[in-house]
Amino acid sequence: MDYEQIFVHALDKLKHERRYRIFTEIEKNAEHFPRARWNAPNGPRDIVIWCSNDYLGMGSHPVVIETLRDAARRMGVGAGGTRNISGNSSAIVELEAEIADLHRKEAALVFSSGYVSNETGISTLAKLLPGCVILSDQMNHNSIIEGVRQSGQDKVIFRHNDVAHLEELLRAAGNRPKFIAFESLYSMDGDVAPMAKICELAEKYGAMTYLDEVHAVGMYGPRGGGIAEREGLMDKIDIVEGTLAKAFGVIGGYIAGKRAAIDAVRSYAPGFIFTTAMCPALAAAAAASVRHLKNSNGGERELHQTQVRKTRKALSAAGIPMLPADTHIIPVMVGDAGLCKAASDMLLFDHGIYLQPINAPTVPKGTERLRVTPTPHHTDEMIAELVRALSTVWRKLGLPFAETPAVAAE
Ligand SMILES: *Cc1c(COP(=O)(O)O)cnc(C)c1O
Repeated sequence: MDYEQIFVHALDKLKHERRYRIFTEIEKNAEHFPRARWNAPNGPRDIVIWCSNDYLGMGSHPVVIETLRDAARRMGVGAGGTRNISGNSSAIVELEAEIADLHRKEAALVFSSGYVSNETGISTLAKLLPGCVILSDQMNHNSIIEGVRQSGQDKVIFRHNDVAHLEELLRAAGNRPKFIAFESLYSMDGDVAPMAKICELAEKYGAMTYLDEVHAVGMYGPRGGGIAEREGLMDKIDIVEGTLAKAFGVIGGYIAGKRAAIDAVRSYAPGFIFTTAMCPALAAAAAASVRHLKNSNGGERELHQTQVRKTRKALSAAGIPMLPADTHIIPVMVGDAGLCKAASDMLLFDHGIYLQPINAPTVPKGTERLRVTPTPHHTDEMIAELVRALSTVWRKLGLPFAETPAVAAE
């Protein structure tokens, strides 16, 4: 049996479908984020990153870096084991208190990543609800889908953000325990859930709400509590899930909610129990980031939204086709996997602009795109350069320009 040949064959299949992923090797420049060094085939080059989920540049913030350095000096690096076996690091306990306060919840629990928090949080909670049915938005992230699957409970999918469909399914579920899993801000289209209406339906039909705020924590709401904070709905959400790796710029994920639900996950979840705790120094750095964004009176958040608006407006004026969302994510539509990759390569090689192509299966076939994420650190000159580069690439590849501006001029 030629095992290696089987893997080669599996990879060929991906390459044939243009789904084989090619990484771009970079070294971030903490002093000059979003600038970075790209280890290009013919030597290193300076580039500007336009597709980072470090939405506010907190991964390079001096307070976060200094906290990490100090904490590592004081406490060392690894946690040395699970929280049960090797001691419950005070840095993680403090981080959880910071997160619970951010979302105005009784308790929070930290995991190695946002992915693990969804996978293990949802599966554990739903499994503990006897005869439960999970109602899951059609566009939910893979980590939610895996959590739902691993719970072993019945699931029904409601059409994306379609509250009429959700209500129909809630009614059909009768008086079984019901668990609604959705996201606040969907990161591929940049659209937002009708959260008030979903919460209203949850109350009417006695369902539990589980909200993934991964792409909104740190960025929306007066203290960075997410879209639920902005909409005044935090107390209507039973469990909120977030990441420390995107706007907070570090690593790790969490859930927050009422004491018993969080304690149940702590006590029953294999994905929490059987893995080494987060590095305490990283926990300290993440807590510093959460604290900073809570108390910075929206400074980063305002500048972020300003640079996003400028980028959107400039792209629109140049006729670059975008999805018309009003969040910080700007999906520039290409609609073909090969052309999307070609556009991305041209931007990198010819213009020093890094915009990773987003192809199927991450997005549906035919909706391939470049996902532009401006940060507060992208200057007006960088925005102008991006627009010039995209216009050149669009002309060279013969890609269609938008006929009517996607955003009305201000
Ligand atoms: C990125 C992402 C996650 C996973 O978070 P990580 O901390 O990167 O593991 C979960 N949910 C959504 C919607 C995401 O986009």
